[in-house]
Amino acid sequence: MQLIGHWIDGKAVTGTSEATAPVTNPASGEVTGQVALADVADTRAAIDAAAIAFAQWRDTSLTKRTQVLFRFRELLNERKEELAAVITAEHGKVAADALGEVTRGLEVVEFACGIPHLLKGSFTENASTDVDIYSIRQPVGPVAIIAPFNFPAMVPMWFFPLAIGAGNTVVLKPSEKDPSAALWLARLWQEAGLPDGVFNVVQGDKTAVDELLDNPAIKAVSFVGSTPIAKYVYQRGTAAGKRVQALGGAKNHMVVLPDADLDLAADAAVNAGFGSAGERCMAISVVVAVGDIADELVGKIADRASSIVTGVGTSGADMGPLITRAHRDRVAEYIDAGEAAGATVTLDGRDLTVEGAPDGFWLGPTILDNVTPEMSVYTEEIFGPVLSVVRADTYEEAVALINANRYGNGTAIFTNDGGAARRFHHEVEVGMVGINVPIPVPMAYFSFGGWKSSLFGDAHAHGTDGVQFFTRTKAITTRWLDPSHGGLELGFPQNK
Ligand code: NAD
Repeated sequence: MQLIGHWIDGKAVTGTSEATAPVTNPASGEVTGQVALADVADTRAAIDAAAIAFAQWRDTSLTKRTQVLFRFRELLNERKEELAAVITAEHGKVAADALGEVTRGLEVVEFACGIPHLLKGSFTENASTDVDIYSIRQPVGPVAIIAPFNFPAMVPMWFFPLAIGAGNTVVLKPSEKDPSAALWLARLWQEAGLPDGVFNVVQGDKTAVDELLDNPAIKAVSFVGSTPIAKYVYQRGTAAGKRVQALGGAKNHMVVLPDADLDLAADAAVNAGFGSAGERCMAISVVVAVGDIADELVGKIADRASSIVTGVGTSGADMGPLITRAHRDRVAEYIDAGEAAGATVTLDGRDLTVEGAPDGFWLGPTILDNVTPEMSVYTEEIFGPVLSVVRADTYEEAVALINANRYGNGTAIFTNDGGAARRFHHEVEVGMVGINVPIPVPMAYFSFGGWKSSLFGDAHAHGTDGVQFFTRTKAITTRWLDPSHGGLELGFPQNK
């Protein structure tokens, strides 16, 4: 049985802790490895490596740092299928989806290749007589990235290209459920010429996370995961004096107005609801059907969803398994609870079996119609292939529903009415909005982040937000001409 260890100071190590957790192939149910769970000493070893490397990396010229980023981009682009296969083996998502994940991460690497432009400071000449002021952005130091299971490559790539490009060093703590993608990326960094210690991976659970949050050498924390842990990480990290961005869970609504193209809306609902088996923070979880279109829309969604092939990720299937048996069973329980509370099960994936893979964590696409806001299937983030349909009489009712929800990650509206779309983007209390686009994940040069309980902190991921998060500003006031002493003057300096 392979032991999946850490990557510290440019070397694969297993650490001192003997604790491990099983890593499973969700399509077969087979335990394929044991991941090391770092203790405090192992975590400190990674932090120490990042702290030592920081002194040199921050002083490495921007040109050299960018050259490493370009090489990393080239290598990743050449070998993205290899990384996608690593993801499918531990996460279960189908090959095309895994490749899509890598590609979206690659876009952030490409954005980071242009970081010299974004790191430029500003200069004001003669702010006071013969006094100039300029500002520069400097790296913050060693930073921690704590990632969720559902995007083992893309989510770390939301952060580390910009962190590294800006001159920081990194300790990445991947999810213990799919830890291998991070090690693959670490080796690629080494091949791209990144000095040892700039990018480290520590495998583990709460013990490693708590040390990253408490250790004074770590200056910033980027976290992505469920809302309760995001809140905890934000509170503990900021209490320790660090800057923290903590992205949490989601419950994304897609509003369909009566004038929408219902075929387009049905395609979108199915793709966004069942892609990656619903295990995406930008998955559509609730369709809000406005007015009298609900029956027709649900029919179109059900027709399409029933043709989805669920199966092993490498087999050409449309949708893979869920991440663990426990999670699969929890999602099935939400469906049971919704049915018991009066929702109509229009499509039922609970009894799905996949030929040749009897022990996979399977759950087929499921549609629950006539869901109401007090049902647990509506209030909780399900994170599975379950699409709930809520029927609303008016646009106002639909928006009020979204705005009352504790999450605010993504949302979408389907309509042919430009005025309604304009009103929606203005009124809705959600960080990322799609108009006739179901998964509005912004490009790398925009920022990614939700509102309300979907993000704690004030910086979104990537875009200029990311550059700001991983740098701090220094303003320098200078006087070179006529530096003659004007005599003692203890008053507050005045501009002349
Ligand atoms: P999770 O919160 O269980 O785990 C995330 C990370 O936190 C992992 O590295 C895990 O090891 C660590 N962790 C877990 N419990 C901890 C504890 N008690 N103390 C300290 N650290 C702990 O999330 P997950 O199940 O891996 O991922 C799914 C969740 O992530 C969903 O809620 C999803 O919406 C969310 N997510 C959000 C976004 C976003 O952009 N907002 C993106 C992807 C995933």
